[in-house]
Parts: sequence; C-alpha cells; structure tokens
Amino acid sequence: MRKFISIIIFCCFTSFAFCQSTGIPRPKLVVGIVVDQMRWDYLYRYYDRYENNGGFKRLLNQGFSCENTLIPYVPTITACGHSSIYSGSVPAISGISGNTWWDKEKGKTVYCTDDAAVNTVGSSSVGAGKMSPKNLLVTSICDELRLATNFRGKVIGIALKDRGAILPAGHSASAAYWYDPGSGNWISSTYYMNQLPKWVEDFNGKQWVDKFYNDGWQLSHPAASYIQSTDDDKGYESKPFGPKFPYDLKRFIAKDYGKITSTPMGNTLTAEFAKAAIVNEQLGTDNITDFLAISFSSPDYIGHTFGPNSVEAEDGFLRLDKELGSLFDFLDAKIGKGQYTVFLSADHGAAQVPEFLKENKIPAGRAPIMAGIDGINDLLKEKYHLPGLIISEDNYQVHLNHSRIDSAKINEDEVAALIIDQLSKVPGVFRVFSLKDLNIIPLPARLREMINNGYNPKRNGDIQIVLQPQYIEGYSQTGTTHGLWNPYDAHIPLLWYGWGIKQGKTNREINMTDIAPTLAALLHIQMPSGCVGKPIEEVIK
Ligand SMILES: [Zn+2]
Repeated sequence: MRKFISIIIFCCFTSFAFCQSTGIPRPKLVVGIVVDQMRWDYLYRYYDRYENNGGFKRLLNQGFSCENTLIPYVPTITACGHSSIYSGSVPAISGISGNTWWDKEKGKTVYCTDDAAVNTVGSSSVGAGKMSPKNLLVTSICDELRLATNFRGKVIGIALKDRGAILPAGHSASAAYWYDPGSGNWISSTYYMNQLPKWVEDFNGKQWVDKFYNDGWQLSHPAASYIQSTDDDKGYESKPFGPKFPYDLKRFIAKDYGKITSTPMGNTLTAEFAKAAIVNEQLGTDNITDFLAISFSSPDYIGHTFGPNSVEAEDGFLRLDKELGSLFDFLDAKIGKGQYTVFLSADHGAAQVPEFLKENKIPAGRAPIMAGIDGINDLLKEKYHLPGLIISEDNYQVHLNHSRIDSAKINEDEVAALIIDQLSKVPGVFRVFSLKDLNIIPLPARLREMINNGYNPKRNGDIQIVLQPQYIEGYSQTGTTHGLWNPYDAHIPLLWYGWGIKQGKTNREINMTDIAPTLAALLHIQMPSGCVGKPIEEVIK
C-alpha cells in the first residue's frame, strides 16, 4: 500500500513537473505596433534609405511580411483601424464606426472614446481624460489575453492619441496612457487608475517636449539626398513651422505642447515612454505573457499636414526606422532576442495631395462636400419650410433629421432623392445613394462589402458618398486625408517578427481582421468576441 501511494505521489509530482517545465508555449511579451497613416508602399519607397540595424529592414528580412494586407471596410480612419486590428472585427460589429459618429439613440455626435463618467488623471485638462473603451462593443485580443491568464498577464496601451491607446488595450487593460497637448504630460483616466504611477510622473517631470522644441526639427540626412520627395516649399503643404527646413521650434517652448505631435519627435516621445513602461511595469519578466500595444500617432499628423510625397514624410519615416531599431535593441537586451513577438501594421494609409497629383498630370481634386450640404439644407428649407433636415455629415455619410421629417409628415424618400440628386453634382463625387439600397444597386462587390462591413445601424447615416479615385473631401486647400476604399487608403503593411514567427513573405490577400485571430492562434487563447478574420497560417512556426 505504501509503495502504491508513493507511486501515485511520484506520478503526481512528475506530471506537475512536466506541466511546469513545458507549460503552454507563449512569448514573454507581445509588442503590437500600429503606425498611424502608414501606406504599404512606404516599406519600399524608402527601402534603400532604411538602416540595416533599423526597424523596417529587421522586420522585412528577419520576420514575415504579409505584402497584400487590406482593410475590409470603410471608413478607413484611425478609430476603426485600431479597433479592427485588435478585435479582428469590423465597425458594423465593433460599433467603432468612425472617430466620431452621429449617434441616433443619443441624438448627438459621439467621440469614439468619450466617457462622461470618468475623469482625467495626470493633468488639469478636464476633457483630455474623460475617455474609456466603453463605446467598443467587442473584446480586444488584449482582453482575451487577460481572460486567458485570469488577469495575470499585464496589458498596457500607449499612444499620443487617446483612441490609439485605449481601443487596442481593450476593456480590461492594466492601463492606457495618451498625450495631453494642454500640459505636455502623459495622462490616463479614472477608468484605469486614480493616480499616475510614480514612474509616469517622473517621466512627465523630465520636460521632454521643451527639450525637443529647443533642438528643433532638422533633416536627418543632407537635403540633396531626399530624391524620393517633392521640393520642400510647395504651396499645397500646410506650414505650421515655417516655410521650409530647418524648422526652429523654440517659440513653442512652454506654450504650445500640441505642435510636437506633427514632428518625428512625437515618435521619440512615444518610444521612450514605451521603454519606461517596459522597465517600470516589469513587462515580459515572468512566464505569464504581457502585451504592450504601442501606436505611433505622429506619422498621421505629418501626413495630413505635408502629404505622402513630402520631405517631411520621408524624414519622418527615416527617423521612425531608427526609433524602431532602437526599440528592438532595447527589447533584445531587456526581454531577450526571440523571447518576444512583434507585429507592425497601420490603421490606414492616405491619398496623395491632389495638387501634387495634378502638377504631375494625374487627375485629382478636392470634393467640397460640406459646402454642398449647406446649400442642400438651404434648398430643403425653401421647399419644406424647415431648417436642418440634414443633421450631420460624417464618415462620408449624410444623416437625416428623422424626428423632424416624421413630425412634419414629410416623405423621407423624397427628401433623400433631392439630397442624392444635389450631391451627385458636387465635383469629385463618384457615387451617392441611400444606404437602404446598398445591396440592390449595381456596385462593385468589393465596395459593397466594405460599406456593409462599416455599417452599424445605430451609428451610421442614411446616404453614402463615394468619391472619385484621387479625390479627397475638400475642407482645406492644403495637405491631405484618408477614409475611402481605394488602395492608397486601404492597403497597409503587416509585418511579424520574433517568438513563434517564421521568416518569409506572402502576396496572398489578407485582411486587417486576420491580425487578431493570428495572435490568438500564436498565444493559444480565444479569438476576440466580434472576430470575423482567420489566422494567417503561413506566419506561425
Ligand atoms: Zn488621419
């Protein structure tokens, strides 16, 4: 009997030891990197200028590149991109149908991460921290990691933009931090904590932004070497810092902390803060996988301001390459080479500046949608003697004032027909139709699917606008934007590197929504709750 018991004890001990020694194979840390407004072609446009020990060549040559990764919905904008990468879902299901949207139930415009019930932590800017993920209707892959580890794996989201930090990190995150342009501080909200950790306060105390302003923004290479970009002083660029390089930023010291976001130093600020988080939160130091979700917001601000073909964009990406190289060196030293997994993607791309295209004989333009809407509202007022029958225009959709139309007993289809007729005359408008007719009218399958995937009935409009290729919405005369179905907006980089990742590439068509299920497969955890993607098998060892 005693021998039998000791055999049982021995078996228990060895099977326990077996579990302990092998465990579930997982990396120590996952680092998700979103580059806000990175067109896929930037990987190759500047390839010859990226450094061998920088970020992009390391990812391309030692990792796995999904060369043909597409966004499967419209609008192709920041909040939708971040939520879809991390949830594997689409706006129709995740509810994140824009950066802002007209909410039919609330009868007002809602910002994607607005939360009136919480408060700013870390600065006196009241509005900057009234933020949480409560408008996100699904889980993120970070939530699934938290659930799978019974909340022992830490999750931290970091980005200059609140939405770039909050939406990836999900509902159950350990923390999310974003940048307050009012104070120049990294802040959070009472959704996550009541007080900033000491390391964040110490980081804020170092006056990073004033130092960056003091140094200014000079080109990182000789000016004559920027042969992949147009001249620096084009009239169709916005000029927030002066006519051309070098940019003296000293006048912003202690005054305008928002300007840093439109410079490459915004990326440095983000990377340095991420490194501080890794050290101080001890990410990746034990056998329970942690997740650091970083989004680099500055490329988006630089892209909007100066355009994809600018010297500023080129210098921004050459510096980001170095920044990523330094981050990977840091991770190699702190976590260990091959002990962490990285993926890098983008929330969307961007159109070229229309005037730049026209200068080079490529048709393009700015479609004055808002001016068109104002005129149509005047026409509707004349006809029906009621003001404001169009209540909002956002995300390339028009919202009708349903309660006003209903109470006046006006024929809604007649109103919609008049709006469609008028909007179709606006220069640059390619298609405009009632969303009720989306699955009836002739429309290329890809467009129909992308609009369906972006359609959330409570948070979407009544009439859809699609612009001609190379046209952007014309609210400004300089710079550019993004948001439609075209490849320049919807074709994004997707690179994988490190623990569990094969070396190679595929040109197979992959969707942005495949990123989260691939992470789920890699980590042996459940897919997020609204996931519609599939694991990318080629990537996983
Ligand atoms: Zn943008």
